[in-house]
Amino acid sequence: MRRPRLWTLREDRSGSGPITEAECTTCLEGSGAADGGRGPAVWCLAHAQATGHTGFRRIRTDFFRASCGSP
Ligand SMILES: [Zn+2]
Repeated sequence: MRRPRLWTLREDRSGSGPITEAECTTCLEGSGAADGGRGPAVWCLAHAQATGHTGFRRIRTDFFRASCGSP
């Protein structure tokens, strides 16, 4: 009888890295997705300056991949 194979979940580095996006909690405008956090942060500051909106939500997405290794 074969032993059940072990599935593991690992950070997926084959595609892009983590994606960061910022969204205004007042008007729901968004920065768009970016590879780093710097672009969205700069967008928040510019948006606050332009609109007076000061609340933001940061959305960070990272990727995992399941793989089946030997036990
Ligand atoms: Zn806004």
